[in-house]
Amino acid sequence: MPANTPWPPRYPRDFVPSEDSEYWDKELETMSPEQRDPIILEKLRSQIAYAHRNSRFYQDFYRDVSVDPSDIRSFEELAQLPILTKEDIRQEQEKHPPYGRFLCIPEEQVFRVHGTSGTTGRPTVFGIGGDDWIRIAEAHARILWSAGLRPRDSVMVASVFSLYVGSWGALVGAERLGAACFPFGSGAPGQTERAAEWAAMLKPTALYATPSYAMYLAEVAKSMGLDPRKDFDFRFMFFSGEPGASVPATRKQIEETYDCYIVDMGSMAEMTPWMSNSGCRHLDRGMHLWLDLVYTEMVDPQSHIPIPLGSEGVPVYTHTERTSQPMIRYWSGDVARWDMVDCPCGRTYPTLPLGIYGRTDDMIIVRGQNIFPSRIEDILRSMKEFGGEFRLVLERDSGQMDRLTIQTEVEASSYANREHDPAALKPLREQIAGEIRRAIGVGVAVELKPPGEFERTQFKARRIIDLRT
Ligand SMILES: [Zn+2]
Repeated sequence: MPANTPWPPRYPRDFVPSEDSEYWDKELETMSPEQRDPIILEKLRSQIAYAHRNSRFYQDFYRDVSVDPSDIRSFEELAQLPILTKEDIRQEQEKHPPYGRFLCIPEEQVFRVHGTSGTTGRPTVFGIGGDDWIRIAEAHARILWSAGLRPRDSVMVASVFSLYVGSWGALVGAERLGAACFPFGSGAPGQTERAAEWAAMLKPTALYATPSYAMYLAEVAKSMGLDPRKDFDFRFMFFSGEPGASVPATRKQIEETYDCYIVDMGSMAEMTPWMSNSGCRHLDRGMHLWLDLVYTEMVDPQSHIPIPLGSEGVPVYTHTERTSQPMIRYWSGDVARWDMVDCPCGRTYPTLPLGIYGRTDDMIIVRGQNIFPSRIEDILRSMKEFGGEFRLVLERDSGQMDRLTIQTEVEASSYANREHDPAALKPLREQIAGEIRRAIGVGVAVELKPPGEFERTQFKARRIIDLRT
């Protein structure tokens, strides 16, 4: 893309690659990073100049910066712009409801309104214009193609259709690609039983959900006498919203349960096209960073300075083709390591090889050790006695010492007849405590629970119970 390519980009709406093509846009996806960087930089320059010109918020936000927001010339200059946080959006939208002064198009041109549910404070609102919605569909189609989706497939979207943009993002991408879309939804009483019935009847070939939901659906299906390997026909599943799709034991369990492969995806709702972090059909776990669609910097959690490949930090995202409510240098609060990997797909994007394995705010600090729940999940799920769910209970004893207790379900056969005999369960309890202590570096207490003890989640699992105050 030469320097004077029009921005925002317009894509031909009827283009679909040939069925056997590995790529939607071979040149862009496989060129060397050195060749791609000027293309990305040009998009960023246009994006930031546009936002600065049209948004009163960014005019104020960039008042004292040392670079010219209307002419960003390098990634180093980009990194001089302040980081935008969820709290900034909340405050701005509180002062200037409903969108804040982020909106760069007339309000009557808003085509979709999405947002976050606001479980932890004031909800945030995203106004998305019609052209942006088309570009989101295009980006998601391109990425779903890399995940292996083809027009002959049918996609069951088994997540809630609401303000939550995840389901809609999956739907529009699959539609644009030309697959058959089956927007089943989730969350209503009895809906998972019906999902199992429909999946057995209609035999969709791809599933979009959360990893927790895929496991729940399998449990429900089995309780109805269905065999997820035989009665369903899922060829692959793509997930977002939880780290599980890059947690090896979780991944393996779902792949074996359904006889399918899994693709991990997802940045943040605010950053839709949220699939710009995505694995492909070849990548064993982790996600490629499709930088030309959403530019991702990895920064140090404290200093916010960009970190080199190979290190762990926090993704900070910038839209590259958003005209309605662009987010520039948006702080994710997630934790990941980035690197270049040789993926058999041949794409040349940097990759988060372990996916997003935690959040700066769900990282538990126990006696000075940083612990991500996904690490504990990996250990539990790799044990054959594991019963399907667990909780992490954090307490502080009178000596001000943190105590971590893992409450884990164990399989009925490991539990039955022994529940009234604590000594009989002791070896298993000690084995689990030992493996977790070796992995995370701190001693834990383990409580064994019968299968079914904990509520199954249909959305994002909340597994940490922090009783420290
Ligand atoms: Zn790949």
